[in-house]
Amino acid sequence: MSQSGQRRTGGQPLFILSEDTERTEGDDAQSSNITAGKAVSQSVRTTLGPRGMDKMLVSDDGDVVITNDGATILDEMDIEHPAAQMLVEVAETQEEEVGDGTTTASILAGELLKNAESLLDDEVHPTTIVEGYHEAARLAKESIAEGVVAGDLEDEQLVQVAESSMTGKGTGDVAATDLAETVVDTIRAVRDGEEVQRDDIAIHTRVGGASSATELIEGVIVDEEPAHGNMPRSVEDAAIAALDADLEIKESNIDAEYEVTDVDQFNAALEAEEEQLRGYADEIAATGADVVFVDGDIEDQVGTYLAEHGILAFEDIDGDDLTDVCAVTGASRVGSVETLEEDDLGEADATEVEKHDDDEHVVVEGGAAAKAVTIFARGGTEHVVDELERALSDALDVVTASIASGGVVPGAGATEIQIANYVRENAAGVEGRKQLAVEAFADAVDVIPRTLAENTGLDPIDALVDLRAEHDAGNAYGLISEGQTGVVDDPIEHGVLDPAAVKREAVESANEAATMIVRIDDVIASN
Ligand code: ADP
Ligand code: MG
Repeated sequence: MSQSGQRRTGGQPLFILSEDTERTEGDDAQSSNITAGKAVSQSVRTTLGPRGMDKMLVSDDGDVVITNDGATILDEMDIEHPAAQMLVEVAETQEEEVGDGTTTASILAGELLKNAESLLDDEVHPTTIVEGYHEAARLAKESIAEGVVAGDLEDEQLVQVAESSMTGKGTGDVAATDLAETVVDTIRAVRDGEEVQRDDIAIHTRVGGASSATELIEGVIVDEEPAHGNMPRSVEDAAIAALDADLEIKESNIDAEYEVTDVDQFNAALEAEEEQLRGYADEIAATGADVVFVDGDIEDQVGTYLAEHGILAFEDIDGDDLTDVCAVTGASRVGSVETLEEDDLGEADATEVEKHDDDEHVVVEGGAAAKAVTIFARGGTEHVVDELERALSDALDVVTASIASGGVVPGAGATEIQIANYVRENAAGVEGRKQLAVEAFADAVDVIPRTLAENTGLDPIDALVDLRAEHDAGNAYGLISEGQTGVVDDPIEHGVLDPAAVKREAVESANEAATMIVRIDDVIASN
């Protein structure tokens, strides 16, 4: 560590940085950054794959999260080191772009750093490493594209992709296959060719009940109870209104300045208010609405009048829920009762208030126009439900990615072996020392099958030797986890498939972070 930015001019020290700036330069900076990055990557290694373990993360205030999800783990860990933070960003980018493969990307980034470190030790220049890695990443993506499983994606394959994205995650008492089918049914409900509007799918969670009760609802669930006890609790073929308004007395009418000089006038004022409130209910009823979702408040009396009309109404609906109700029913959001017209109403096949334990919610199942669907996820405890939600969310993302961007590739490490071979073969054509970096990249990719082997309790070296032998013989085999152990076999036959987009993104984001860290030779931290 050098003095804080000290430079000498004519014998006089010149300070260009403040006294308490900490500066690390050259090899020190590199090795401390690389060590930090590797440490982060190391921390998620044991969670990779179906036999991966979970982590329990406890925050300062005692909140506990139990998860197997790379992005969640890194997010919950309080990581301070700036280079380590870059690895966290790898997981975040991966999660945002494709929704899965976060552990893979972090492990790969760590291994790329480790191999870069030995190249640096051998005096290979950082720029050469960076160039070699970029070249190798390009080759890796070529290899992924070549590995895409031929033919149209069948529903069965999509179920398999969903399932392999969920294996290893705690999903309560429900079989991963059943959940995977629910996920694919859900996607089918909003799919239009190769277009999947992921935003049209909501996951609604509730603690209580078995995870196996998790189901697809062709509609939306809103956590509200009816505005009035006398309202119907279930309406079939309902006309739905969505109001961005308050159903209460307008401010001006109850102005404190209101001058009341005698009792008659006072009664008249009350009557006028009464009229207005009744007016809301009558006007809504006149449009033919059976169910009303209101963004604002509903005055008690309005609730009573609506109930008299046999209308089911909900108040305090948050903006997103109201948007979903509109997407499901085709209703248009209207800003006031006065402007509500029959044309603005949507339709729902069924609107039902359900009670689960002490809480009530309403399920709105759409008619033909329904564009939004919901997975209603259940589980015995909050931790189970939270992890189930993460698993479902990943599975929805991978199925979406498979349909929308580039198909599926064999999982279980098969694709990584393929990538490593391809990059290694092509390294021969790369000039000079850059070739060493390309080879180092190929070796780094092996970390995925190696880690899968470790987590399955197999000897990683033997497993890699077997895998390579199969690949040399033309079999794109992987390390399939089955029960307590692993076998070297064809992932496609075992239905272990990953989206090509997940692999592509993992290579990209890991490469970006690793090369960015390798390029840094000066860390200036102001305290
Ligand atoms: P990530 O956060 O990277 O998605 P996961 O813990 O979900 O990490 O593990 C994903 C890896 O596990 C992928 O390489 C996938 O192919 C592999 N995998 C999934 N199911 C199986 C299986 N049954 N046997 C072997 N590998 C599997
Ligand atoms: Mg995964």
